[in-house]
Amino acid sequence: MMVEIRKPIPVGEAVERVLAHAVPAGTETVPLEESAGRILAEPVTASHPVPPFNRSPYDGFAVRSKDTEGASGSNRIPFSVIDEIQAGSVSNQTLGERQAARIMTGAPLPDGADAIVMFEQTVEDGDTFTIRKPFEPLENVSLKGEDLAEGEEVVPAGSYIHAGTVAVLATFGYAHVKIARRPVVGILATGTELVGVGEPLAPGKIRNSNGPMIAAQLRRMGIECRTYGAQADDLDAVIGTVERALTETDALITTGGVSVGDFDYLPAVYEKIGAEVLFNKVAMRPGSVTTVAAGGGKLLFGLSGNPSSCFTGFELFTRPALLKMMGADKLFLPHTKAVLGEDFTKPNPFTRFVRAVYDGNTASPAGFNKSNAVSSIARGNAMIVLPGGTRGFKKGDEVDVLLLGVEEGSTQWKL
Ligand code: AMP
Ligand code: MG
Repeated sequence: MMVEIRKPIPVGEAVERVLAHAVPAGTETVPLEESAGRILAEPVTASHPVPPFNRSPYDGFAVRSKDTEGASGSNRIPFSVIDEIQAGSVSNQTLGERQAARIMTGAPLPDGADAIVMFEQTVEDGDTFTIRKPFEPLENVSLKGEDLAEGEEVVPAGSYIHAGTVAVLATFGYAHVKIARRPVVGILATGTELVGVGEPLAPGKIRNSNGPMIAAQLRRMGIECRTYGAQADDLDAVIGTVERALTETDALITTGGVSVGDFDYLPAVYEKIGAEVLFNKVAMRPGSVTTVAAGGGKLLFGLSGNPSSCFTGFELFTRPALLKMMGADKLFLPHTKAVLGEDFTKPNPFTRFVRAVYDGNTASPAGFNKSNAVSSIARGNAMIVLPGGTRGFKKGDEVDVLLLGVEEGSTQWKL
């Protein structure tokens, strides 16, 4: 049997090819309480000014600033208190000369008032108080619309809904929120050597760790997957399962069987079902055999069976494509610069993604880092990106790091 020659393409080009085939999965409406972690399908626009009225930012007294002119330590000006305004109520009084209203934080200013004197700035005596400094018009006043003007766009469509987004949705009365629909994603692990998590090991067998790992990677994105379990390397059986999965899902993730081994059947599956292979070799380590195909409007992610390759292939290709299908505007892992914590002297023509521990300053490889490693994906919280080329890297070098523990993505694909 002749081994097919595969031409590696750069990671960035592979990402672009996948994204070109990722189509948003539509929209749905959910109660506000269920919206956190989802993607906004329409912009949030201020339907009223925030604050909606001039209000006091302090507990104190509302006064007319013109009555405070000339106040000083040696010329204290007295005021008489004619009303008390609690947050949530409105005064029906109009302040006259040297009159004031006790006012609590969040209460609207009474007619005539244009400044707030904090309690701490007064000496009180029964229903009167004195002040020792003048106040400017609008001093200490929280102005109507200072936070948001009516009609202003607050958050654009495509934004990840975090706690602050929920606050603004609640501010404008969104009891229900129009969000992007999540794609239905299937997972199928392939490999005759695989047994399930709850099964005992037997000679030559290993547990299927990729299936549960991918399910967790999906859950981190808010996607509940549909699992097709683990299946032996049997061409007809795998074709049958893939065909069924494609009628039930928007995208299918398989692991294993994309390399050039005698029982690596995924290339034959793509051919049989008429899917177009977008690429089957990427200039990266690990995961160079990562394959993505498109058929019948669905994406098929053929991730390598090696756990580190599988993990990396998901984060680099599957995640941004699914985020695009989810209507997100920030598709990529957030990245930062870090100091390399160890020498990495072995040069490689391919871009290397090293599972790493990043502490906010230094990024160090998270132990055993071969493509078949499972330990370093458990221990790492980031991936160091070492560009391909002829040189190695030294401890102390500045490197790019992709962050794995940050919910909201980045708009830039930067490598
Ligand atoms: P493959 O991509 O099928 O050539 O598999 C590459 C390596 O990954 C082999 O050592 C497999 O035994 C291992 N492997 C394949 N699938 C899984 C899986 N679901 N979980 C853990 N390891 C796997
Ligand atoms: Mg296999």
